[in-house]
Amino acid sequence: MMNWEMIPAKGPGFLEVEAWKGKNNKIAHGFGRKNPGGEKNSRKDWHGKSVNAGEEIFPLLSLRQVHGDRVVLFEENVQKIEEVWRLEGDALLTRTPGVALGVFTADCLPIFLYDPIQGAIGIVHAGWRGTAGGVAGKAAEKMGEIFQSKNSNILAALGPCIGPCCYEVDGPVKNAFVSGGFPWDLISRPRREGKWLLDLYRANLYLLERYGISKENIQVLKICTSCHGDTFYSYRNADKTGGRQLNFIALRKE
Ligand SMILES: [Zn+2]
Repeated sequence: MMNWEMIPAKGPGFLEVEAWKGKNNKIAHGFGRKNPGGEKNSRKDWHGKSVNAGEEIFPLLSLRQVHGDRVVLFEENVQKIEEVWRLEGDALLTRTPGVALGVFTADCLPIFLYDPIQGAIGIVHAGWRGTAGGVAGKAAEKMGEIFQSKNSNILAALGPCIGPCCYEVDGPVKNAFVSGGFPWDLISRPRREGKWLLDLYRANLYLLERYGISKENIQVLKICTSCHGDTFYSYRNADKTGGRQLNFIALRKE
């Protein structure tokens, strides 16, 4: 099993990927915690709003997340932002600068994809169903088809989600992963009769590496939302408020 190290996750504002700070100033990004946007603590509250990322304000785009594997492309002049909010899907891609792609999570894994060569970004919402369906790999693959992104150029960042310390799953979940071609022993460990602890990070790393994204281009923020229910919305950790944290990535206008 992967070592489950802890990163301080206290305090206001969005978490940034350490390795992406500075050198990737063409993008803005952040993994949310409880209420970095003031009173906005669900998808509904963010609808029609913008993300304030310091010097730049980005109108927010978000799909209706359905735990599937559908990848949606946003193109300025083709769709209106409001249309995107009505579409179902769990991965969103764009090459349009000046808008933020967002996913909302409470234990599910948010993933950012960035191709600095083609100037393209993607965002993925990956719970167990989406992960078993290969959504992160499909999003990266679509970046290749649509933007001619080379898999060797794609950078990925995996944000806070429920960790293998807390994510107990049962047989049907195992079967979905085995059917999806995942090495079950690599992404889980047995807990008790008919129950396993699932590692969403390992499962998504496996997907991205299977697609050809190199390990050194994948950043992982290992923070368990369930262990840190005081800081993050966690569906499993008795958080019945229905709160969701926003995670976003945007291409800055040059
Ligand atoms: Zn945990």
